[in-house]
Amino acid sequence: MNYRHAFHAGNHADVLKHIVVLALCDALLAKPAALFALDTHAGRGLYRLDSAQALRTGEADGGVARLLAEAPAQPAIGRYLAAVDACRQANGATAYPGSPWLLAHVLREQDRIAACELLPTEAEHLKAQFAGDPRVVVHARDGYAAVRALLPPRGREGRINRGLVLVDPPYEAQLEEFDTLLETARDGLERWPQASWAIWYPVKRRRALHPFLRRIPGLPAKSALLVELLVRPDDSPLRMNGSGMLLLNPPWQLDKALAPALPVLAERLGEAGASWRLEWLRPPP
Ligand code: SAM
Repeated sequence: MNYRHAFHAGNHADVLKHIVVLALCDALLAKPAALFALDTHAGRGLYRLDSAQALRTGEADGGVARLLAEAPAQPAIGRYLAAVDACRQANGATAYPGSPWLLAHVLREQDRIAACELLPTEAEHLKAQFAGDPRVVVHARDGYAAVRALLPPRGREGRINRGLVLVDPPYEAQLEEFDTLLETARDGLERWPQASWAIWYPVKRRRALHPFLRRIPGLPAKSALLVELLVRPDDSPLRMNGSGMLLLNPPWQLDKALAPALPVLAERLGEAGASWRLEWLRPPP
């Protein structure tokens, strides 16, 4: 059984990922037209930071807990902390929101969410959590195959022509995961070119990512933006030294919303040698 994410809930990588997801949603929701969000690796939707698994690693202490202890006055970070607070108001003081919870929190009545989770136990949690929310459909299935099956949206969601695809795999297949996700992104963008994509990736040694990053400009996306936070130098291949989000077709000015948050995160969550990066691999036309 894969408890990987429960161990890491609320760590520096989750903080970056969830700040980016919220900023991305806010930018997409600036227009009234409905949005279809596909979360390919949804997890269980809600975590407990006082669970035995979370306490064992204490990773949230160096992530969300550090920001909550002294909230930086920065809008994108404040937006994230307000969402964590809303999650705690609804679910108790030690709750931490997963990506489907955040999507359901920010999306509107006219929007739709498809949340895919391969592990049956995690998918059951998700189904129970969203049983009363008609906007959310939980699919206990492979998230990569769901891109082929669910894009472009049909049926109930068939009139929606704006989209967000969030890809947050566990990277158990190591570098092979990059091949799968690039093939999936290519296929998904060909099927539904207007969607925005957010793909999370871990950084151990950054240079190991070069073969992946070199392939990104070849994807059929109009633009591609990298957002990275390294909490320490990337000198060890054995630990996650940071993480990044690859954004394909990001909404206008998302980079401007995120840029001021990154140095604050590096300073607050990082050790000596922490760094950040915001880089267009393909600038908008
Ligand atoms: N996106 C979530 C969040 O931000 O809260 C966390 C997701 S966690 C990193 C990855 C999840 O993907 C795990 O719950 C794992 O069981 C699930 N998973 C692994 N392989 C999968 C696949 N091929 N399709 C769908 N889910 C998968």
